[in-house]
Amino acid sequence: MLKIGVLALQGAVREHIRSVEASGEEGIAVKKVSQLKELDGLIIPGGESTTMRRLIDKYEFMAPLKEFAQDGRPIFGTCAGLIILAKSIVGQSEAHLGVMDITVERNSFGRQRESFEAELNITGAAEDFVGVFIRAPHIVEAGENVEVLCKHNGRIVAARQGNFLGCSFHPELTDDHRMTGLFLEMVKEAKEKSAV
Ligand code: GLN
Repeated sequence: MLKIGVLALQGAVREHIRSVEASGEEGIAVKKVSQLKELDGLIIPGGESTTMRRLIDKYEFMAPLKEFAQDGRPIFGTCAGLIILAKSIVGQSEAHLGVMDITVERNSFGRQRESFEAELNITGAAEDFVGVFIRAPHIVEAGENVEVLCKHNGRIVAARQGNFLGCSFHPELTDDHRMTGLFLEMVKEAKEKSAV
């Protein structure tokens, strides 16, 4: 079984663990830096990126998370988690982890559309995935090594760069585990590679 951590400082942690377990793997709520070493992959959940960042600093997760990424262990960021992964954030001078070559804009679907659902065609995961968007960011720019996996109304809402996967919506809030499944495939591949 793969061991998949969900960064449990803030946000939709339980739902991701449930989705990992429903996909047949082990989901672990990560509250301490020392737990990172046992993981095959990590999910950074949705929530509030500024609050999450404050807690990442408070519990000294920043350097260990960067090491985790450099080790080639996969990370999946959803919504606020996507913002944490991005190299650049519109209107902010500093990024957070900054491991994915993307620029994101926060809360970018407007006030009237604070939260909505949309059917999405996601390369490698599903052609008919219902995405739940909650004060969601979107990717305004993606570098050449970034594979765009999904657009909604012309906006990039899911992308992959090597071992990093990110999406604007909340795949853990439905019973459709195909997006989680895509991440688990990435983790499996990375684990096999590192065992060679
Ligand atoms: N609006 C939040 C932020 O900017 C993200 C919302 C979410 O994760 N559902 O961090």
